[in-house]
Amino acid sequence: MALDLLIKNGTVVDGSGAPRARGDVGIRDGRIVEIGRVGSAAERVVDALGMIVAPGFIDGHTHMDAQVSWDRIGSCSCWHGVTTVIMGNCGFGLAPCPPADREWFARCLTAVEDIPTEAMLAGIDWTWETFPEYLATVDRLPKAINYGAYIPHSALRMYAMGKRALTETATPDDLARMAAAVKEAIRAGAMGFSSSLATTHVTPDNTPVASRIADWAEIDHLVGAMAELGAGIFQVGPDISGGAAQRAFFARLKQVAVRSGRPVMFGTIASRQGDQPNPWTYQLDYLDECAAAGARVWGQTTTRSINAIFSLKSYLPFDVLPAWRELRRLPLAEQKRRLTDPATRRQLVAEEASMKPRDNVFQGGGAATTDPRRPDYDNLYAMRDVEWADPTVAELARERRQHPVEVMIDLALANENQVFVQPLVNERPDEVRGLLEHPLTLATFSDSGAHVCQEMGSSLQTHLLSYWVRGKHAFTLEQAVRMLTHDNARAWEISDRGLVKEGYRADLIVFDEARVRPAMPTVETDLPGGARRLVQRAEGIAATVVNGQVTLENGQPTGAVPGVLLRGPGATAR
Ligand SMILES: [Zn+2]
Repeated sequence: MALDLLIKNGTVVDGSGAPRARGDVGIRDGRIVEIGRVGSAAERVVDALGMIVAPGFIDGHTHMDAQVSWDRIGSCSCWHGVTTVIMGNCGFGLAPCPPADREWFARCLTAVEDIPTEAMLAGIDWTWETFPEYLATVDRLPKAINYGAYIPHSALRMYAMGKRALTETATPDDLARMAAAVKEAIRAGAMGFSSSLATTHVTPDNTPVASRIADWAEIDHLVGAMAELGAGIFQVGPDISGGAAQRAFFARLKQVAVRSGRPVMFGTIASRQGDQPNPWTYQLDYLDECAAAGARVWGQTTTRSINAIFSLKSYLPFDVLPAWRELRRLPLAEQKRRLTDPATRRQLVAEEASMKPRDNVFQGGGAATTDPRRPDYDNLYAMRDVEWADPTVAELARERRQHPVEVMIDLALANENQVFVQPLVNERPDEVRGLLEHPLTLATFSDSGAHVCQEMGSSLQTHLLSYWVRGKHAFTLEQAVRMLTHDNARAWEISDRGLVKEGYRADLIVFDEARVRPAMPTVETDLPGGARRLVQRAEGIAATVVNGQVTLENGQPTGAVPGVLLRGPGATAR
């Protein structure tokens, strides 16, 4: 029988970690049906001569819950080889949600994840109330990548308890209602249940988000509800404050994992944690201890530092200062004109002196871009390329004998797309490498869909391939592809993706291993309602295939929308 698609003449890196092999890949009805020397006729042929053919990448830590409504292609992740994402992480999402509270939920998501409320109100046809109704909506939406979702704790708690969710312990009635909703979600296909205890997660009123009000008994109860069904992953944004509080958090989390028997994931693993950091190896030792105790616990990590990103077109670290605030309200051209005026410049530079000194507390991307603390110019880089060898603003200030603020103004005037990068966590490459090498860590945590104007993690996959594989030879291509595909598929219990294997779903990417890399990030105003976001594309990926259909050719969408809703192993027949 003829094939729908044939990827010919490529070199297959199959995702298992096995050495590469020359071969064609034949696809029919969305699945891989032949690998090797394939002679069958095909409706469409992609020539992959000189290219690597690998499984599409799986990113388990995204916040694309809102974006899926308006962005068919799944950017920016799709440009980096990602064909499957999990959303609803850290307890945040848009369901369950009573109709009257939609705007409140949207504002909470804006506060925590910097997803613009205006984009959500303009871009979402908000028809659901329950979590299964939300999944059904995602199922129906046209989409070019696959989506799985957790039922998010903060949304669930606000749904079950109303405003009490932000201050009160759950009553037995509340617990029963939430547990029933978790079970209903798992049966409808949720990948699991997510929560957060991270101190960076606050509401628009700067109070802890709902999940942080929950006690451990509530966590036990809700993870226990999944255990009763024998399905579902528990994902949690961990305590990142360091010291004894963090150790207590991890000890208690281990109990949850041991008692429930459910897989537990926390992320991100953070090397920087405030004034009393635990050594970065502490969380790796912890993963080993959990495994020794029979628990399934995974640590999520990135492939480089998580960074706050600044630019003239988005945030600058000084935007909260009065003279800056006034300037930054103006149209871009007018801002640029005033930034050349000597008196204005003197005032803007002088105001910086009133900023509070920086402390060691891990801020998260949101706080870093809106908090009135003075930047650490030795840890603020003027990005020139994606090789992570950029000069710091402090170095440039010494070189040019200028105040660091003037350096930033001049660079922005010379190039309005100039981006400044401030690593927030995991800023030491040797530590990142150590995290990635551990067998119980997962290369994920793009936070894609969130922090849209504050961070750009969506390129973590192409960064792994260009920086760590091609640049540093820290991993072979086979190892790196396995980390992004099979390892993540196994952790998220996705049984038919993540390998180039007969019978598997045909999620594939075709790329040039000598060229693949992230492009430079830019600020665009392409969100619904004209809201801005950071955009980062990639180079060197020739084709992306999802469920057997080509969705991207050299980064350009083909218009095909073959993505599906992934249902977890606890889903009952529909
Ligand atoms: Zn998150």
